[in-house]
Amino acid sequence: MIAKEVDSYIRRLQNKERELVRAIAKYETDGRESKDSETQDFMDRANHTYTKETLFQKSDSDRATLGLVQAALERADDGSFGLCIECGRLVERKRLDAVPWARHCINCQKLQDEGQL
Ligand SMILES: [Zn+2]
Repeated sequence: MIAKEVDSYIRRLQNKERELVRAIAKYETDGRESKDSETQDFMDRANHTYTKETLFQKSDSDRATLGLVQAALERADDGSFGLCIECGRLVERKRLDAVPWARHCINCQKLQDEGQL
């Protein structure tokens, strides 16, 4: 892949990284705030529990995505960005356009989804 193309993926990855870091920080603040307010009626508490669980799930998946985004930026640093970490072939362009932090080519992703990797 030529450097200019990698650069545009890097920019997208950096934007995504910032966005995720901000979102995760916000979940943590929101989580703390709902823990602090103990003097609500039952419905409010039920609501808060629900919100907190949703926040936890969202922050978990954001954290996982952040890890992938940062790993992709590291691969950009060492020059292996866009290569499948399993077979070393180029990850399909369409796939990278949709998910710039994809680690696997379509083939290997399929194998992994099937539990064969
Ligand atoms: Zn592969």
